[in-house]
Amino acid sequence: MDKEQLRANLDEVIWNIEEARIAVSEHHIVQLVAVGKYTEVENIATLYVLGQRAFGENQVQQLRERMAALEELPLEWHMIGTLQKNKINNLIDLRPTLMQSLDSLSLAEELNKKLTAKEARMNCLLQINSAREETKSGVTPEEATDIYQQIKESCPNINLKGVMTIGAHTEDETLIKQSFETTHKIFESLEKEGATICSMGMSGDYPLAIRCGSNLVRIGSALFK
Ligand SMILES: *Cc1c(COP(=O)(O)O)cnc(C)c1O
Repeated sequence: MDKEQLRANLDEVIWNIEEARIAVSEHHIVQLVAVGKYTEVENIATLYVLGQRAFGENQVQQLRERMAALEELPLEWHMIGTLQKNKINNLIDLRPTLMQSLDSLSLAEELNKKLTAKEARMNCLLQINSAREETKSGVTPEEATDIYQQIKESCPNINLKGVMTIGAHTEDETLIKQSFETTHKIFESLEKEGATICSMGMSGDYPLAIRCGSNLVRIGSALFK
């Protein structure tokens, strides 16, 4: 991709984030994680030159290749996709900045066991299936608070930092908004447990997600189109 195209895309995304966050409050800060899964590693390097520092991938293998290719750059790396149990050790060895897709208690327990064996810790978000879609992973909104507390109590090597959700897969904005509001309510109830990150919003819905309280957006296609 052309550097000027990437610059224009990044400017547009940052402008939209700015407009939405100011509507919430001038003190509301939103982090942008650029999702590179549909693009080449060269474009990630270009986005770094343009000022972007945080990147996300949804597969451990791809995350590993990109971290290795861009090893000399001071980047933050986020894991945002479903983690298969047989890839847990590989992910631990990569030391991601944030694992956003912790989607069950059993995955948390397995991850904690392997972290303990390696004397490592990992920052994680609990993924919530806020629109109750069968095709999506994550805990249900009803069980989210309990599972969050259970992980905090029984998984000392996991640093739970908050929650993540993928907005409802529909054209109906009311339903998308509902899924963000549901997640944000859960986030608010967990703030007393130390939750600081509410990760919601992708290319198609991030301004809405920010207006519903998101403070981290994960953007792929709007940047790399
Ligand atoms: C791919 C992906 C994104 C980015 O999606 P876009 O619609 O391309 O912005 C964000 N979050 C997750 C979990 C993803 O898998």
